[in-house]
Amino acid sequence: MSNQSLLARSLQSVWHPCTQMKRHETLPLVPISHGKGVWLHDLDGNRYLDAVSSWWVNLFGHANPRINAALRDQLDKLEHVMLAGFTHEPVVQLSERLSQLAPDGLGHCFYASDGASAIEIALKMSVHYWRNNHKPDKTKFISLKDSYHGETLGALSVTDVAIFRDAYSPLIRHSDTMMNPDARLAAIGESDHDYALRCADALEKYLQQHHENLAAFIIEPLVQGAAGMAMYHPVYLSRVCAICEEYEVHLIADEIAVGMGRTGTLLACEQGEITPDFLCLSKGITGGYLPLSVVMTTSRTYHAFYDDSTARGFLHSHSYTGNPLACRAALATLDIFRDEDVIERNRVKADYLNHIASALRSHPSVKHFRNRGMIWAFEVESAHTDFAQRCFALGLHHEILLRPIGNTVYFMPPYVISESEMDLLVTRTLHVVDQLSRQPA
Ligand SMILES: *Cc1c(COP(=O)(O)O)cnc(C)c1O
Repeated sequence: MSNQSLLARSLQSVWHPCTQMKRHETLPLVPISHGKGVWLHDLDGNRYLDAVSSWWVNLFGHANPRINAALRDQLDKLEHVMLAGFTHEPVVQLSERLSQLAPDGLGHCFYASDGASAIEIALKMSVHYWRNNHKPDKTKFISLKDSYHGETLGALSVTDVAIFRDAYSPLIRHSDTMMNPDARLAAIGESDHDYALRCADALEKYLQQHHENLAAFIIEPLVQGAAGMAMYHPVYLSRVCAICEEYEVHLIADEIAVGMGRTGTLLACEQGEITPDFLCLSKGITGGYLPLSVVMTTSRTYHAFYDDSTARGFLHSHSYTGNPLACRAALATLDIFRDEDVIERNRVKADYLNHIASALRSHPSVKHFRNRGMIWAFEVESAHTDFAQRCFALGLHHEILLRPIGNTVYFMPPYVISESEMDLLVTRTLHVVDQLSRQPA
């Protein structure tokens, strides 16, 4: 079957996510037939380097042999069983291993299927915790300016991206937003460290006034992804963790995008040496194979629900909670981290990419070139209001999958990317950026 006929059928029957479908009158869909490593292949024999890890989920390449083998093995044992009243080896092993790897004290794992539901769980658990602890007035949440925590109603209430919220504002509870520690917002002459501390001071003032009604403060540690890869200094994490503890407000670390090695440590919280009250993981946790998310929390939280009364328990469930196949994919992913020295090898890869990116970094249209771990981002000065779409289309033409956020181009490649693949990515991106910056408006 050709690309042409599959994409016509797709437009007839599939409503695509995060898409104004009418755009596809001019922008073709890309029908993918198979993937291998960092490459996606379409039905006409074209290939695309997946520089965004398929929406930030893929860690060790498409069709990874180890994850494939683990899933084949699990398929013949148990595909699924409900987790209420039942348990199984993959979910137990995964919980034990995550607890060993996470900051000390996060010994209890509650599962769901996608990132947004992990956020819903953390928000509900926080409010229910305070209720069980005779503080029923602590029901509000705060988040950072430009935050993104997912698109279900509860998650949207702590998401500060207008395009995702505006149509639903009558359905969404209001949450205040705190100063964004994004290093690009520092005053002239102010270091990113000092600016982060200034933001933490502002948070403290807010908590002094409002802590009695606040359940939790939710943050994306180190990098605000959907905001356009806004990066900030780790001192912000340690300061706000201490402040939240002092004012008895939960800290929820949304590591859905930044966890699993993305920022250069297995978890971003490690860089601020903090243990949040709740830590949410999803996206890369299964290596990009299957939907799985987890909320990790402390025994203090756990024991606030542990009681003879059913109503004091956390009565939340999803049909696929703790799915054995997804847990096996996650275990295989953790095996790769353990056996292949991934964090250290990523450091070497990041150095290499930074080294070869000097021409890109110094291109006259490129601003704020930045890197943390396996994330790179920069803004492109362009006369085009549809820069993101043009860049996406031109990228595909040059065999690279880039999906800019506004004028922010970013790389979040699978960790298996090789030096020659990094060479290709950087060279072609430079070419795309250069071509777009020359095009008249
Ligand atoms: C992607 C993302 C989510 C939502 O996860 P979904 O699986 O898309 O629902 C939440 N928070 C952050 C930081 C994310 O990047």
